[in-house]
Amino acid sequence: MNFPAILLAALAALCVVLAAAPLRRHIVSRFVLLWYRHQLPAMSQTEREAIDAGTVWWDADLFSGRPDWDRLLAVPKPKLTAEEQAFLDNETEQLCAMVNDWETAQIWQDLPPQAWQFIKDKGFLGMIIPKRYGGREFSATMHSQVIQKLASRCGVAAVHVMVPNSLGPAELLLNYGTDEQKNHYLPRLAKGLEIPCFGLTNPHAGSDAAAIPDFGVVCKGVWEGREVLGMRVTWEKRYITLGPISTLLGLAFRLRDPDRLLGGEEDVGITCALVPTHTPGVNIGRRHNPLNAVFQNGPNWGKDVFMPLEWIIGGPKMAGQGWRMLMECLAAGRSISLPSSSTGYAKLAARATGAYARVRSQFKTAIGKFEGIEEPLARVGGNLYMMDAARSMTAGAVDLGEKPSVISAIVKYHLTERGRALVNDCMDILGGKGICLGPGNFIGRSYEQLPIAITVEGANILTRNLIVFGQGAIRCHPYVLKEMRAAQDGDLAAFDAAFFGHVWHVMRNEARAFFMAVTGSAFVSAPSGSAPQLRRYYRQLTRLSSALAYAADVSMLVLGGALKRKERISARLGDVLAMLYLASATLKRFEDEGRQEADLPFVHWSLQDALARAADALHGVLANYPSKLVGFFLRLVVFPLGRHFASPADRLGHEVARLLIAPSLARDRLCSGIYLPRAESDPLGCLEAALEAAIRAEAVEAKIRAAQKSGAILGASAAELAQAALAAKVIGAEEMSLLKRAAQLRDEVIRVDDFPQDLGRSESARPAQPQRAAA
Ligand SMILES: Cc1cc2nc3c(=O)[nH]c(=O)nc-3n(C[C@H](O)[C@H](O)[C@H](O)COP(=O)(O)OP(=O)(O)OC[C@H]3O[C@@H](n4cnc5c(N)ncnc54)[C@H](O)[C@@H]3O)c2cc1C
Repeated sequence: MNFPAILLAALAALCVVLAAAPLRRHIVSRFVLLWYRHQLPAMSQTEREAIDAGTVWWDADLFSGRPDWDRLLAVPKPKLTAEEQAFLDNETEQLCAMVNDWETAQIWQDLPPQAWQFIKDKGFLGMIIPKRYGGREFSATMHSQVIQKLASRCGVAAVHVMVPNSLGPAELLLNYGTDEQKNHYLPRLAKGLEIPCFGLTNPHAGSDAAAIPDFGVVCKGVWEGREVLGMRVTWEKRYITLGPISTLLGLAFRLRDPDRLLGGEEDVGITCALVPTHTPGVNIGRRHNPLNAVFQNGPNWGKDVFMPLEWIIGGPKMAGQGWRMLMECLAAGRSISLPSSSTGYAKLAARATGAYARVRSQFKTAIGKFEGIEEPLARVGGNLYMMDAARSMTAGAVDLGEKPSVISAIVKYHLTERGRALVNDCMDILGGKGICLGPGNFIGRSYEQLPIAITVEGANILTRNLIVFGQGAIRCHPYVLKEMRAAQDGDLAAFDAAFFGHVWHVMRNEARAFFMAVTGSAFVSAPSGSAPQLRRYYRQLTRLSSALAYAADVSMLVLGGALKRKERISARLGDVLAMLYLASATLKRFEDEGRQEADLPFVHWSLQDALARAADALHGVLANYPSKLVGFFLRLVVFPLGRHFASPADRLGHEVARLLIAPSLARDRLCSGIYLPRAESDPLGCLEAALEAAIRAEAVEAKIRAAQKSGAILGASAAELAQAALAAKVIGAEEMSLLKRAAQLRDEVIRVDDFPQDLGRSESARPAQPQRAAA
């Protein structure tokens, strides 16, 4: 036999072995299984519970290398019911009108009492509680809209409303509570008769929350005059939001049962209980001062506090199930609270800063027309469109019944980071106007408070480095979790099916990634019903999805358990997944909103930016690969012709910036859903009026400039020139009054607050009077 014939025969034999499952299992898979079990990183029970928690949704498509765009576009657009819309337009607006950042911080160091009462009376604290318990039973989309609107007005109001509706007593009770616990507490929580908080964080266990040293010991004790089985709990919690004024403390601690009174293990595990804060031994009331945000936040502690086992959420049978409960419930709140509040801050900042950039002139030019200011304005517009798209799509997914654990980490990280970057850009554009605090400053408090969003619900560095990819690679992957489970159970047949499915998956993605890279994705199909202007983005995203899937598989194979410690590799892979998610949301938003042509600059900018960032992240993985050889090989497959994803061009940035500095439907859509006071006594209302007036005045000013240039009129100042133009009939009386109104509003807009020597402390004991007369 010659060489080709031998090769063919060997290949044929290999095909027979691989095609015949029983043979393949015997000859190949059982050895691979042994190797795999050896490679499998050690995983604690808490890590396993974190990975098992929640659901996967569109993230799984993106991770597969073959996203089904038609499926995404068919997902219904999130909508509010008539009742929800009415609550948003009435009660939420009314609450916004009652509060503002300046007074909460300067006068009340809290919400004003009447606002607190309003929140309780109108059911803001029971938005996730079903109607049968007296709650509002709002959708996740509505919940997100309320938080967004409140955040655009007053951070403290947003936090005080968001926390009881996020992971805490109500949600845990709804999912795990006994009927007795639900019937007792849920109606009281819905009506604001109980103020809840949830205490997990301990001084020694922040990010590594499963390591809390707080403990309870199962024992007998006397409760309400009789001996009952209970637990003595010792804890020290800090940073607990609503803690200082809470009446119902959700408490997480590790339960031990040294005398085996529960009949099981000695280490029962993390347990969650509901503790009325009037219980003797519970210490609450002291406050932290989180960046002057003045929402209620503080430590609480107790030593050997006896409580009956019935206080465990779900009763004694749920002892030790606390971590699983927390992980399972984390996704819904994390999908909504911080993404929505960050988007609310960002919308306010974008709307107000765009207006300011048109009203404020330097060098005889509106600052928003300088190329230097256009650059940050473009980032503001592009990022905000994408943030809102992701906020809304994610809330919609929760409404569809998803508990999207990986997606919730993506939106938590990327929307808070973009919110922070966006507000920073706005601060730079505003100059001193953003810096001097006072009733007229509409952005300073957001700027101060955004780092809080970065830290809470999974600090951002941890979320990016450990959670997005770490959890995503296992949860979203079509085969890895199946392989791991089969390996753990020693199930050879299941392992064989998953492993060989995985092998074909890798080979297919390798071929696809390479082919799409060398052909510029020209042969990739975009969804047939999608907007023609955007089809190229679908193709490029599909290409990057295949590249991600392939690079992730190679990384898991080459680095194995070490990938967990190679955080900079896994963070970048997570960034690629995140960019694909954010870009998908942007494409979907454009379709859902009826393809608004005027919004295209936002859409193009944000998609081009996301593609460039995804490509940069992927390139970062390859360039920093622990094995240079593997990195080189990966680059040959993923970027054989180099990187071809440019950041948005200046011209596109110019178009985006222009949309922010003039009133338009596109600007209204970009900033929709915020509290927009129309009264000129309010800083934002004044800005809106000043923007309109400035634009109308520009035409009059152009006439005056032309007359001055031709020598028809003379004058040293703008006021003198205007008078001269009026006298020379270059402009009419109406135009003159337009100029005056624009100047008056501009003066009001550029004004910053000033205070007496003590910065007004002596005056802040009483509610401030509005300093400006209503127009
Ligand atoms: C204002 C505020 C309100 C809060 N409200 C509550 C509440 O109501 N209930 C509650 O239980 N908790 C609450 N927390 C706690 C919060 O959710 C965080 O869990 C906690 O702040 C994180 O712990 P830490 O601040 O001690 O940071 P640390 O855990 O010390 O982390 C410090 C830094 O290290 C990073 N890091 C940690 N581990 C890793 C890793 N493996 N890889 C990479 N980076 C890592 C983190 O990202 C962070 O940047 C609140 C915190 C604040 C500040």
